[in-house]
Amino acid sequence: MSTLSTILRRIRATPAPVVIFDLDSTVFDTGSRNLGLVRQWAGAGLWAERAAAMTAEEFGWDAAAPLISRGASAEEVADFRTYWRAHFFTDDAVVLDTPAPGSAAFVREVHSDGAHVVYLTGRHVGGMEIGTVKALTRHGYPMWRPRVSVVLKPNFHLDDKRFKAMTLPEIGGLGTVVATFDNEPGNCNAFQAQWPDALNVLFGSVCSPEAETPDPALIRLATFER
Ligand SMILES: [Mg+2]
Repeated sequence: MSTLSTILRRIRATPAPVVIFDLDSTVFDTGSRNLGLVRQWAGAGLWAERAAAMTAEEFGWDAAAPLISRGASAEEVADFRTYWRAHFFTDDAVVLDTPAPGSAAFVREVHSDGAHVVYLTGRHVGGMEIGTVKALTRHGYPMWRPRVSVVLKPNFHLDDKRFKAMTLPEIGGLGTVVATFDNEPGNCNAFQAQWPDALNVLFGSVCSPEAETPDPALIRLATFER
């Protein structure tokens, strides 16, 4: 049985089941957000034509990589990175994300089978919360219902992993954590340590370059499509 089917079966067999979903590079692909930012940065200038030819699939963890591979100068890369830092973590930008294929349907099934869905993200309140709930609503993820929680960092500067680790006892208080999904090995390791009996999924292939070594007990998954 596939991992996703096993999770659904376990939800149905567990009282007060809880499932945690990270957002960026897990249920949402951030490639189109990065592509949009490159095109905004390029404007009508020298990079406009090359930016128009880029695709969302080219963007991994480093949003400047498609510029670098096309011969951008150090100055251009630095200028883009400044633009990116000022815009990536904003309501206007997060609505550009596209759902990871199959993710909205799977989260809906998780919810309708009885789980409390917790969106646990390193996005922050005070700049990203409006775009986040707009995007979740627009793309058909469970929202505005009992058994749905959206958990964001209280401020931009708090470290993502530290923030997520701080929330785990409170999330555990909602019921039995059956499964977790995140693209960062460090977060997955923390879930695995907290809930060794859950199905803890290390999702996709995008993660920070200084990522921790994944716990061998983690389940690797490349797609929500079944
Ligand atoms: Mg993520």
